[in-house]
Amino acid sequence: MGLSQHVWSRALAPASSRSTQRVHLDASSRAAFAVWVPVALLGAAGLALAVGWLASGHITWNDGAGIVLLIAAATLAEAFPVPIEGVAVGSTSLATIFLVAGATIYGWAAAAVAGFLAMALVELGRRRPFSRVAFNSGVYVLAGIAAGGAAAGLQDGTLRGLALGAIAAFIAFYVVDITLLAAVVTRSRGIAFPPALRSYLQLTFVPFAVMASLAVILVVLWDRSPFVAVVLVGPLVATALYQRWIHGALSRLREFDRLKDEFITIVSHELRTPLTSVYGAALTLEQQTLDEERTQALLEIISTEAARLSRLLDDILWVSRLDSGRARPFITRVEPLPLTAEVVDATRTHLPHGLSLELLHDSAPPDVAADPDKLRQVLVNLVENAVKYSDEGRIEVGLHGRNGKVRFSVRDEGPGIPPSQRERVFEKFYRLDPNMTRGVGGTGLGLYICRQLIDSMHGRIWVESVPGEGSTFSFELPVARTS
Ligand code: ADP
Repeated sequence: MGLSQHVWSRALAPASSRSTQRVHLDASSRAAFAVWVPVALLGAAGLALAVGWLASGHITWNDGAGIVLLIAAATLAEAFPVPIEGVAVGSTSLATIFLVAGATIYGWAAAAVAGFLAMALVELGRRRPFSRVAFNSGVYVLAGIAAGGAAAGLQDGTLRGLALGAIAAFIAFYVVDITLLAAVVTRSRGIAFPPALRSYLQLTFVPFAVMASLAVILVVLWDRSPFVAVVLVGPLVATALYQRWIHGALSRLREFDRLKDEFITIVSHELRTPLTSVYGAALTLEQQTLDEERTQALLEIISTEAARLSRLLDDILWVSRLDSGRARPFITRVEPLPLTAEVVDATRTHLPHGLSLELLHDSAPPDVAADPDKLRQVLVNLVENAVKYSDEGRIEVGLHGRNGKVRFSVRDEGPGIPPSQRERVFEKFYRLDPNMTRGVGGTGLGLYICRQLIDSMHGRIWVESVPGEGSTFSFELPVARTS
């Protein structure tokens, strides 16, 4: 494969409004060869000219110190890119500001060397492939030279000339950068150049306009005194941190949105299955030629599937109640043994063939501080999961008091849960790989609800498991205080 397809498709997909100003090349990129090699060669030639120019005494020691400072700032900015909404993550560095300032104040040669060093140091530090380091560094060298040339043409020794020079330098840098990027992307993906360039310009225009203003401010301040220019560090760091914060918040929102979509898909699927059975059974019942036995079997399907529907809707309502904080527990003193025995007995009445269910307990487990309805709900959920996910074997429900806590456990000999999934199964909507759950229906809400309920009763819940041998879901609740 040539360029990293993932990054490229993100970079150019208009639907997702992504763009990037950085190039992600890998060495095997054939199609992009015709672009990155000339850019790298031109960049190398430009760099050689720039070094020659600087070495032939065109800068003072003071200028040298200023250039080193700008190179350090540009390298840091390049190493810590700012995530900007609408522009690909990790793609917008504020380095452009420092490189444009360097080009305006110290000229094209300084900007070329600074651009090369900032980009090459960061890309080499990240161990990028040679083609990518060469192309990206080449782009910065050429953009730096263009910026220096544009600035020089407008400077007349006045403050106005300096500011206009900085603007021209920024535009030149931006145009070279974005054009070369669009060239390599379109080449590697075999798409048309003009629309790609237009899309880049549209997506990056606003952040770049802001950076251009910052570059002008930096140049003007720097011209007065490089020390005064340090005041820009505060607003720049604050902007970068704020952008990161916004980006984090929006990413969380997007993730939430994705989960909601996934939830709708799962729920529709889960609703459709029992509804189809109920509908089919009802249609068959309408034919009055059925014998007693067949009629009974169909009625049973209807009642089982209707119960499943109602459980599903209960789960959904519970999640909504828990998420909106409307499910506060009413904590009281609860005798755990009768409650657990009741759940075990109720499950035994409909235990599938091949499964056995036992209750193992201390002779007199202490009372717990809990909400009895919520405690029952958690137990029912864990026992029903054990039944649902085991084909055969023994299910053991345990009840033991220890260290001021009472531990409830449900052990089965089902498929087990791989170590990497043991925390994830408690997440909302999370279900194991469909092959591992062997097509058993569910919404992935049950264990999420259990964890929320146990947390709200100041307990903790977890799972231990040996894949292929079984799982043990346990939770602990505090012993009720003696009053
Ligand atoms: P659901 O059962 O509706 O899918 P849960 O939240 O109860 O949702 O369970 C989440 C996932 O954890 C299940 O999809 C299943 O893959 C796994 N799981 C739960 N209980 C067991 C168990 N006893 N044995 C094996 N896997 C289980």
